[in-house]
This record gives sequence, C-alpha cells and structure tokens, in this order.
Amino acid sequence: MTDKNVTENFITQIIDADLASGKHNKILTRFPPEPNGYLHVGHAKAICLNFGLAQDYKATCNLRFDDTNPEKESNEYAESIKNDIKWLGFDWGENNFHASDYFEQLYGFAVQLIEKGVAYVDDQSIEEIRENRGNYTTPGKNSPYRDRSVEENLTLFKAMRAGDFADGAKVLRAKIDMLSGNINMRDPVLYRIKRMHHINTGDAWCIYPMYDFTHCLSDAIEGITHSLCTLEFEDHRPLYDWVIDNVDIECHPQQIEFSRLNVSYTITSKRKLNQLVEENLVDGWDDPRMSTISGMRRRGYPPEAIRSFVKDVGISKKESVISMTVLEDSVRNVLNKTAPRVMGVLRPLKVVIENYPEDKVEILTGSNHPQDESFGSREIPFSREIYVEQSDYKENANRKFFRLTEGREVRLRHAYYITCKEAIKDAEGNVIELRCTYDPESRGGTADGRKVKGTIHWISAAHAEPIEVRLYDRLFNHPKPASVENFLDTINPDSLEIIHNAMLEPGIVDQNSDAAYQFERNAYFKRDKTYEKDKPIFNQVVTMRDSWAKLEQES
Ligand code: ATP
Ligand code: MG
Repeated sequence: MTDKNVTENFITQIIDADLASGKHNKILTRFPPEPNGYLHVGHAKAICLNFGLAQDYKATCNLRFDDTNPEKESNEYAESIKNDIKWLGFDWGENNFHASDYFEQLYGFAVQLIEKGVAYVDDQSIEEIRENRGNYTTPGKNSPYRDRSVEENLTLFKAMRAGDFADGAKVLRAKIDMLSGNINMRDPVLYRIKRMHHINTGDAWCIYPMYDFTHCLSDAIEGITHSLCTLEFEDHRPLYDWVIDNVDIECHPQQIEFSRLNVSYTITSKRKLNQLVEENLVDGWDDPRMSTISGMRRRGYPPEAIRSFVKDVGISKKESVISMTVLEDSVRNVLNKTAPRVMGVLRPLKVVIENYPEDKVEILTGSNHPQDESFGSREIPFSREIYVEQSDYKENANRKFFRLTEGREVRLRHAYYITCKEAIKDAEGNVIELRCTYDPESRGGTADGRKVKGTIHWISAAHAEPIEVRLYDRLFNHPKPASVENFLDTINPDSLEIIHNAMLEPGIVDQNSDAAYQFERNAYFKRDKTYEKDKPIFNQVVTMRDSWAKLEQES
C-alpha cells in the first residue's frame, strides 16, 4: 500500500501525463458541493479524490459552493459541509469560493454570448421549452424567439436583470442546435428569473445562472486544471466545453468523469436524505443510521476508516454497488487498533458470589488493549455482587456451552473463576439472579491448570454506571433502496433498538471523552452527543464478528 491518498488510476495517469508534457506544471482541483443538504458517503469519495490528489501532488483543492439555487440553499448546510471536510482531515486553506462570487463576471460572459449571436432571450414558458426540446426519438423545435436581433436580446437581458419581468416570464438560452443528438445541446437555458433571497448575494439579483453555465465558467475563472465529476455529467461535457470555447477566457479545464460511490442498503441522494429528515423518520441529518458524513461521525466511525474505505474502493468508470460490509470492516480495522477495551454489560443479570465477603472490595488490574501494551491498564473494582450478561447463562445447557449453567465453571475477565450453583427465578419463571461461588486461588484468571474454556465480562454491581445503549441495524432492508419506486417502503422498522438499563464499568463515563471503546465481547461503542434523563447514551458503532458462535460450533 502506498502512503498516497489516491492509488493510481486513469485520472492520476492523465495528471502524470499532463505534468510530464508540460501542459501543466501544477494541478488545481476543486470540490464543488451545492449547499442544499448535508454531505453523504458518496461525497466522501469526491472529497478524498479532489483533496487527496491535491495533497499527493502538493497542490491545492478549492472548496467552491455551487450556490445557484437560492430556494434550496442555506448557511447551515454550508457550515456543515465545511465541518465534514475538516473532520475527514482535509483543508482548503484560503480557497473557499462560491459560484455567487462570480455572478457579475458570469453576467458579463452571458452578454458576450449574446453579442456573438449565440444566446437569445426566450419568452416561452418553462413547460413550452420542455415540450419543444423533444427527446431521444423526437427532434427539438426552434423557439419562435430564436432569431431575435443581438440588440433586442441585449436590451431584454438587461431588463431581465433590472427586474422588469415577472419570475418565469423569460429565460436566456444558448443558441446551439435543436436537432442535436445530445439533448443538453438543444439550446440549454442559461439564466432564469427568480426573485429569491440568496445566502451570499442577498437581493442583489433576480436572475440566476443555471448549473451548466456556471460550473464550467467557475472552474475556468479559478484556473482549475482537472475538473473531476461523476459519470452523469459525461453528456454535459460538450456543453461544458462549448460555453468555455464561446466566451473570452484563457483557461480551459479538462472535465473528467468517474463512477459514483454507491453503498448497499444506503441512500446517496441529498434529496432523499432530506425527505427522511423532513418526515421525522430519523433523528436529524446526523442520525447515526444515516449515510451522511455527520451521521457516521456521530455514530463513531473514525475519519481514517472512511478515507481508507474510499481509497480501497478506488477510482474507475465502472458503476458498482459496494457492500456495506466493506465499509464496516474498514471501521472495525481502525477501531480494533485504536479503541481501548472496557467491560459493558448490555442486559444485566445479577450474580451473588456466596463465598465472597459481604463488604469486601478488591481492586483488580485489567489491560486496556490485549494486543498493544502502550494502552496501559486500569483498576477495576470487584465485589460480592456483580452483573453478567443475561445471555451468558443458560439453563440445561449442553456441554458445548462454555458459559454459566448449573455446575459449570467460567473465568471472569481480569478476575476469578466462578462456578454457578443455582439460578433464582421470579414468579413467571424468568431467571433474575445467579448464586455462584468463586475460587480465591484463581485471581487474575489462572488456577492449577484446570481447563476453563469460557471467559465472560462482568461489572461490580455497586460500582456499575447505568447507561443507555443504542443498537443500530441497517436503515433500509433492501440492498438498493433507491431502485424501489418509493424508497420509504424499504425502511427497516427494527433499525434502532434502545436498551435503557445497560451497565458500564466505572471510570469511563467520567472521562467524558470522544473516544470509541470496545465493550469486550459486545461491540464498539461511542458516547452520543445527547443525554437521556442524565443517563449517558452510547451508540453502537459497529459489531464485532461473533466469535462465540464459532468457538461453540467447533467443539
Ligand atoms: P446529491 O444527488 O446527493 O444531491 P449531488 O451530486 O447533487 O449529490 P453536489 O453537492 O452537487 O451533490 O456534489 C458535489 C460533488 O460530489 C460533485 O462533484 C458530485 O459529482 C460529487 N458526488 C456526489 N455524489 C457522489 C457519489 N455518490 N459518489 C462520488 N461523488 C459524488
Ligand atoms: Mg448536484
């Protein structure tokens, strides 16, 4: 593995060739989000590619807000985008721009197109324009306003800007070819009239430039060398080039398309994610089940895991859906190395150790990471009453069950061997307590060579910290939710399970830290940003592979 952000691919080959030939001596990339929602895992790919290439080539990547649709854009979204990029570990330095920074220049370029006779003001309604554009089988029809004189077009376009016409009354269109096989080239709309307050330019404008006109020219104004975008823009490339070729500007960036990142069981569309938020189907954009970058952050995914996932997926032109498991494995790989181990009991069952003194408390030592001594160790109190996991007891267990059942001995992690004597049941027959004895000679978990196969986690009852735990499953139960007519029909009703009375060993909650922990034998967890009735909440980041099932099947 290289220490580069981006492994070699067809784009790095183009860049290398451009640097070798002297076409460029330095590259400049950009990440151009529209601030109309929170970023998702797909955007992480575009961020890691554009900012990653800039780092690899000791160059710069601009952050440019593509803010041409004021009705959908907000500063909240713009701020969240900046946060997410920084959190992923990238930096735009001084280079945070907006397409709206160029509105005056863009207006000037539009005037140039009119003067050249390749743009005209059209009085048709948007519906008529759509109707007359035709489709793949039907050619487009020329607008009756297509042959207006340059003078008339200039006067009308100025009047559009001055606010002389109602919203939607006129548009500016490029005059290209209504018969083109590429529908994007059938006289695309360049400007529309829309009285809307803009997050940057306020009420200065009542006409706004369209994406296809704005994007290429913003790239050219900034001197972008390689304009990287997803494959759906391939058909827009002729227009990208046409606009730049027809105005007076030196720089002509090269648009290069790559395939989108799709992950199974997730949605990668801001519009659909917005729908989940608007309809209160999730707890906001950063709900830990969301495929947003902020959701993954709140869930506890480390940024390195997302970066290494994107790097492993690679860059190509091939459309594919990457399995969610690949992303989760990447999270596990990072957390396995970085998460301290602690003991947390999700569904507590009380154990009374009958031969342990009533008021004695011993302080035992537990290592914080079994494979990495640099994590050090911690002190863990032990006493007569402890909690173990309900699932670690089984009545009438066969000999392949290595945990607690009458007469069987198990090892308590970092502590003693205990033997289960009796299970106490309530009136309904539920096991509510275990009576056990311990072997005082087995402190630290070793004793006279007896074979004890099972090791279980526990917490001293008097010292345990009550916590709320949230277990997550996939938000959708269809591998391609976006392919279903209404993706909301594929929502998994069991994607969140709340455990109100879990227990955590002492000393962890007070650390108030942002770290993810491995609750040994359970899963990785990270503290949520919110509290429930003064009780800390821990989100399950990702499960571990269930080693019990394997061990108990083998023997
Ligand atoms: P959405 O459909 O979710 O709104 P978008 O493409 O409209 O996405 P933009 O804000 O325009 O969102 O995207 C910014 C950049 O991120 C664009 O260059 C776009 O190509 C890229 N991008 C968006 N989605 C993906 C994806 N799934 N994989 C890779 N890149 C993506
Ligand atoms: Mg977009």
